[in-house]
Order: sequence, then structure tokens, then C-alpha cells
Amino acid sequence: MVTAAPSRRKLVVGNWKMNGSVAANAALLDALKAASLGSAEVSVCVPAPYLRDVATSLANSAIAWGAQDCSAHASGAYTGEVSAAMLAELGCRHVIVGHSERRAMHGEGDRLVADKAAAALANGLVPIVCVGETLAEREANATENVVARQLGAVIDVLAARIDAVVVAYEPVWAIGTGKTATPSEAQAVHAFLRALLGKRGAASAAIRILYGGSVKADNATELFAAPDIDGGLIGGASLKAADFIAICRAAN
Ligand code: PEP
Repeated sequence: MVTAAPSRRKLVVGNWKMNGSVAANAALLDALKAASLGSAEVSVCVPAPYLRDVATSLANSAIAWGAQDCSAHASGAYTGEVSAAMLAELGCRHVIVGHSERRAMHGEGDRLVADKAAAALANGLVPIVCVGETLAEREANATENVVARQLGAVIDVLAARIDAVVVAYEPVWAIGTGKTATPSEAQAVHAFLRALLGKRGAASAAIRILYGGSVKADNATELFAAPDIDGGLIGGASLKAADFIAICRAAN
């Protein structure tokens, strides 16, 4: 008997990073809400102080929202941290964990990222687990080792709960640099990650693997056409309504 592969609805997530203002966010969200974004699931991961405003603005729309990080801890003396439970209370669907900027600038290691993913899941959030190699690692042919180590640590902690995550492959050398992995370079890593998930017992055909790294309106269609690329995590281009709308539509 031939069984059809499960279809994966494309997902496009904006990562606003540490950008925005109350007025600029309202204008951006108004433009997104007024646009026809196509059939992909769309979400915006915004700075924590804006979550309540964003939740109010998007409450009756098809656009979801989320955060860019969460604590691995449930509550307590962790000054400056935001718990997954707090994000859930504000209606977040997604939370990014393990973004390369947090790994590089905040010293986050694989085990901490895995614990953050576990905290997110425990509070009903979908963690978007970022993995990706630096330029030096790519040039040393270490891409597969690096992403396998990063994702493997998350699988070790989550075990069967891995099926509930979204993975984002974000080559560090492509983030905010204007350099994009070619569709075939990205597809090769996505296929590797999916195979790894399968080998570790995950429902790999159903897990969405996003590509991130200088996705723009003019390269999104080609990237999203690759068989194992299930949408994108979009940084800079998610701050410009016209660009983000075009990227969402490219994910049809
Ligand atoms: C990101 O930070 O997740 C990202 C992909 O950024 P950019 O699209 O700006 O490269």
C-alpha cells in the first residue's frame, strides 16, 4: 500500500529582533492585517514589552504571535528573564529558542536551548528551535556535525515531544548579511536534519523545518519550492510590510 507523505503547511515567522516602537508596530500590523497573505501560517515574534499590544492588535486576525526567547526556569529569582508561562498568558503561539544571536552574544549552549524548548512545550507554546553553522564551520565542512549536535541535544531532552517543535535552519553566515544559502545548499541541510529526526524516532515527515538567513521577497519563492523547506524565519525583511507580505505569499 502506498501512503501519502503528510502535507506540511508552510509557516512564515517574522523575527523583529530588538526593533520597533508602539507606533511603528501598529502601522506594520495594520498593513499585514489589511493584506491577503495567502495560505501559509504566519506569525510574528516580537520584543516582549510589545506582546500585549500585539496580542490586542492581532486577536481577531489569522496572524499568530510569539516571542524571541524564554527562560528555561518556571519562576523565581531570574532578573530580566521572561518565563514561557508568561508568554502563554499573553497568547503567544510560538517562541524562538537558540537563535544564533543568543548563542553567540549570550553564551547559550545546546543544553540550555533544549531546556528552553522543554519549558516552552510544557506551557503549550511551539518552540522554534534554531540551528546553524558559522562560516568557519561551513568552510571546515563541519555543517552537518554542528547542526546534528545542536538538534541532537534538543532531541535528547525532549524525546517523543520533539514532534511538537518547529526547526529553523539558519546558517549564521547568512543572517543579516545579505548572503543567502542557495536553495540547493539549504535543501541539503534540511534533508539532513529531517533524516536525523527520522533516525531518532521523530515523526520527521510532519515536522516543519524553516529556512532563515537573508530571505527576501526576491529569493523566497525559489527557497520555499525546495521539498524540505517548509517556510521561513525572516529577520530584516519582516520589518517592512511590503516585503513580509510578499514573502508570506511566496509560501503558498
Ligand atoms: C534571523 O535573525 O532569524 C534572520 C533570518 O535574519 P535576516 O532575515 O535578517 O537574515
